[in-house]
Amino acid sequence: MLKVLYMVIPCYNEEEVLKETSYRLQEKYRLLMDKEISKKSRILFVDDGSKDQTWDVISNLCKSDNMFVGVKLSRNKGHQNALLAGLMIAKKNADMVISMDADLQDDIDVIDEMIKKYKEGYDIVYGVRNCRKTDSFFKRTTAQSFYKIMKALGVDIIYNHADYRLMSKRTLEALSKYKEVNLFLRGIIPELGFRSTSVYYDRNKRFAGKSKYPLKRMFSFAFDGITSFSMRPLRMVLVGGVMILIISILIMIYSLVVKILGDAVEGWTFLAISIWFIGGLQMISIGLIGEYVGKIYKETKERPRYIIEEVINE
Ligand code: UDP
Ligand code: MG
Repeated sequence: MLKVLYMVIPCYNEEEVLKETSYRLQEKYRLLMDKEISKKSRILFVDDGSKDQTWDVISNLCKSDNMFVGVKLSRNKGHQNALLAGLMIAKKNADMVISMDADLQDDIDVIDEMIKKYKEGYDIVYGVRNCRKTDSFFKRTTAQSFYKIMKALGVDIIYNHADYRLMSKRTLEALSKYKEVNLFLRGIIPELGFRSTSVYYDRNKRFAGKSKYPLKRMFSFAFDGITSFSMRPLRMVLVGGVMILIISILIMIYSLVVKILGDAVEGWTFLAISIWFIGGLQMISIGLIGEYVGKIYKETKERPRYIIEEVINE
């Protein structure tokens, strides 16, 4: 039997691109239907509280063709939340879901390849950018350093992969168990496990409109990603404290030598030692508290402790 494919596309002020995006996807679906995917497949747009005519465009599309599904969020909740909302709704009827941006930066011809991989038995198929020629120098360097920093901090993340990916139904079921509020899907999905693979494509320029990720949002997204997945920044405070304590011992030896040689000003030895020693002690204490804060923070996420992939002969 043919499988049901849902495309999930979060849209924030995308009136300029939606017509083209929906048109191209519709064409794609017409080619795929009856051969590769079921007739029940849909294209789902999530309006993330847009201030322009995005919702009107979406509702008109839905009226013109029941291939389209529209979901409207009550207000702007950000890309990741809008995407999750769409995924959770699509999960009910879909066997596989592909998430994609509205701006046609992701090559839609990769969809065929993703479906092929799904049929080969992969649960997650990551769309990975071959090159970033079309991004500005600034966007390219900041984005790539972000991936590198994340890796260095021990976060499992796919290099040069954004939110263009295919996920199977059971992957979405597992994702629905993640209750965290600071959502960073690119970090969670590799954590789910399951069989995964990548397909490669060249990223295009935005078809129309402006990027919805201005500098400030980009940095807060990156910072969210790091602090939601890594406790290493906290641990660095602890390490820093230990290092300062070691320095304080060296300074202690040095100032005692100066004192014995008789070169020290009255009271200098005591002051020099205390400043460094107390500094180190304080930093260690903060780091130690940080360790506990880190544990509390992990507990409050209430992430699932395991995800079952399959059970045989239950
Ligand atoms: N987006 C969203 N809510 C937001 C910001 C962005 O749903 O608050 C959507 C946007 O409409 C697009 C996708 O997220 O479909 C990615 O945004 P964009 O293309 O502007 O990011 P960039 O490619 O510049 O990183
Ligand atoms: Mg984009």
